Amino acid sequence: MNKDSLRYNYEWLNTPIRSFPGVGEKRAAAYNRIGITLASDLLRHFPRAYQHRGNIKSLAEARDGEICALILTVGTQPQGSMIKKGLTVTKFSAFDDSGKCTVVFFNQNYIRDVFHIGETFRFWGKVMRRGRGAELSSPQFEPCLPGRPLPEFVPLYPLSYPLTQKLIYSSVGLALNYAAESGIPEIIPEEVREKYSLTDASTAYKMIHRPLDYTQIEKARAYFAFEELYTFSLGLALTKNRRRQGSAHIMNRVPLDGFLSALPFKLTDAQNGCISDIIRDMCADIPHNTNKAASAPAVPENITNTHDSAETQTTDIEHVSINCVVSADKYNAPVSEKNAGTAYNIRPPMSRLVSGDVGSGKTAVAAAAIYICIKNGFQAALMAPTEILAEQHYRELSPLFSFLGYDCALLTGSTPAKSKREIKQALSDGSLPFVIGTHALLTADVIFKNPGLVITDEQHRFGVMQRATLASRSGSGYDPHVLVMSATPIPRTLALILYGDLDVSTIDTLPPGRQKVDTYCVGESYRKRLNAFIRKNVEQGGQVYIVCPTVEKKSDPDEEELNVAGEIITFDFDDGAPPLKSAVQYAGELQSKIFPDLRTAFLHGKMKPAEKDKIMRSFACGEIDILVSTTVIEVGVNVPNASLMIVENAERFGLSQLHQLRGRVGRGSRKSYCILVSDAKGENAKERMKVMCATNNGFEIANKDLELRGPGDFIPSGDGTARQSGSFSLTVASLCTDVTLLQKAYEEAERTVARDPELKAPENRYAARSVSSILKIQSHSIN
Ligand code: ADP
Ligand code: MG
Repeated sequence: MNKDSLRYNYEWLNTPIRSFPGVGEKRAAAYNRIGITLASDLLRHFPRAYQHRGNIKSLAEARDGEICALILTVGTQPQGSMIKKGLTVTKFSAFDDSGKCTVVFFNQNYIRDVFHIGETFRFWGKVMRRGRGAELSSPQFEPCLPGRPLPEFVPLYPLSYPLTQKLIYSSVGLALNYAAESGIPEIIPEEVREKYSLTDASTAYKMIHRPLDYTQIEKARAYFAFEELYTFSLGLALTKNRRRQGSAHIMNRVPLDGFLSALPFKLTDAQNGCISDIIRDMCADIPHNTNKAASAPAVPENITNTHDSAETQTTDIEHVSINCVVSADKYNAPVSEKNAGTAYNIRPPMSRLVSGDVGSGKTAVAAAAIYICIKNGFQAALMAPTEILAEQHYRELSPLFSFLGYDCALLTGSTPAKSKREIKQALSDGSLPFVIGTHALLTADVIFKNPGLVITDEQHRFGVMQRATLASRSGSGYDPHVLVMSATPIPRTLALILYGDLDVSTIDTLPPGRQKVDTYCVGESYRKRLNAFIRKNVEQGGQVYIVCPTVEKKSDPDEEELNVAGEIITFDFDDGAPPLKSAVQYAGELQSKIFPDLRTAFLHGKMKPAEKDKIMRSFACGEIDILVSTTVIEVGVNVPNASLMIVENAERFGLSQLHQLRGRVGRGSRKSYCILVSDAKGENAKERMKVMCATNNGFEIANKDLELRGPGDFIPSGDGTARQSGSFSLTVASLCTDVTLLQKAYEEAERTVARDPELKAPENRYAARSVSSILKIQSHSIN
């Protein structure tokens, strides 16, 4: 009933974009590329900036080349003439109190019928001085009509070729008309809106797309920021609720000696501490009474590291997990892999976050958990946010587990179809104990026979929601244990919200022998010395990363429009910084002009996975000296010989991201450096650079980041293609909120879920739909 009535009430929201006037197949495809298929998507396609056309210049004031708004009256009837074949020009003269100019249009013959002598228009365009006169070439224009004030702000939308601002503007206009007629469902409950003085949904949509003044833009943004955070929080609250009700197999404790002696190093105390926590969560308790222990066949093992038997490390095995509801007979369950999946007792699954700074050795902790799981006859999955990372885990873990006698497979988007089929088959018949992968693991046809453990190496890239999805992918009716590894230290206030459903283990010390990475911030004036430093590093046998904020210089008309378009209101961390360096161009420049004798390559997220992998591999084995890259290398990549990290336009990055990037060097024995290149003048940017140079402590950095940039950076958000990947992305809130707003939204969401745990009440129906669309993972990125 609810679904149908929902659809019925707001049916117009499902109007396909293809049926909008002026939208044919090509444009519909372009719309699809930017995530728009329905009218509802269009409404949520928010302007990225606004042109400020309310600031009217007079012709006398306008400088040569200035882009501005003018109010002019048509002085002569437009005349068309053909300049050459295929090029017609339509001209007329127009004036204001201060002077006159010629208005020119190319190949737009219909213009003749638009302008009539005596009519007044607001023009927006570039003024070119021509001797004593002026010319306005192909300006945008709106008629000034009595009683119809023109908006001060004109929205600029993200585009995709061949869409134009004009088309999107008119499509959005139509959607707004629908909305005015049939209404827009509310997500935020009325009393909450009242409490926080938020406007209603249909006003907010109108204000964000058609603001009459700046206050309206701010009001709309406040509404959508809250709405996003509220929806996101509902998803978290629901996930948390469900997990509390979950039931997982309790596993047997298994001897870890074999595993530990297969590791090439001795675990740190912090790593051992985490493993103890995991054992307590996943495994059966041990009897406190020694008599009982003597009769138990599955004697729990202390973690003993055979590399150093003199200094035996023990875990805190006396600690009893609070979740434990096991009965005594579990001790009689034999440890046998034949027993796979035969539950002898259940309780809520482990839900644990392992939080450790970059390089603290989380992989080994994950491996221990995997070992325990598959020794018990259950299957384990390890999910990484990128292919490179998944492959790296595979390279590291597959030999380890094969040495221990277990198969391990890699399943990513670029796994050949045949192997994919085989892996899926082996997972569903239970013959494959362990799989490592990317999003590809989330497709509906990946079924595990006996899932026991799901680990996500989150590194801040995965949606919290995706985590929940993989966790619920159980073929057996039981929930797998869940372990999340996060490399970005998270401020406590945020962790309580983002990871409120998880217990936390912290790896607070780094493995021995790690050295501090010296960090400096320099400006463009240091470029020469910087290049010399790069050369010196390479000559000494080290390798260099150079990270740029963008892939390629765009020739996107939208970008150009933004760059040239007069007075613009944007919502960005605008630090008055110099133009962005792009990886592809800069790599070319370095190779051809500055280091022709060195081996340079570039890497970015838009390259084919196989290509990326090839380059990463050759960098890892020392065949490349300088790797110019976007942040694709941010996550977890391990090349111990890399000794210098240079970040261009460093002000563009969040502190936690910079900290991650810095963590790519100093992983081996070489003395390592991180150089942040930034000429940003803004106070906020300067402050952030200062923090990076002052400390290597991830938690300190995270706190500062939260303070200086707000919580947006901490909310995992995919890579701008969020709508397709199913992860949640903040479009508004990421730039204009502080943590308090998130806290409030979360409190309200918890309240809502406490009252209405399934979001079935009529007032929550639309919220439920919105949440389910972020909880649902689509499988576009695979194949
Ligand atoms: P992260 O926590 O960033 O995922 P990794 O698990 O990738 O860190 O570990 C970083 C590096 O440290 C790897 O090369 C790993 O082999 C090594 N390592 C992990 N634990 C230890 C240890 N206890 N002693 C020495 N080296 C270790
Ligand atoms: Mg890692």
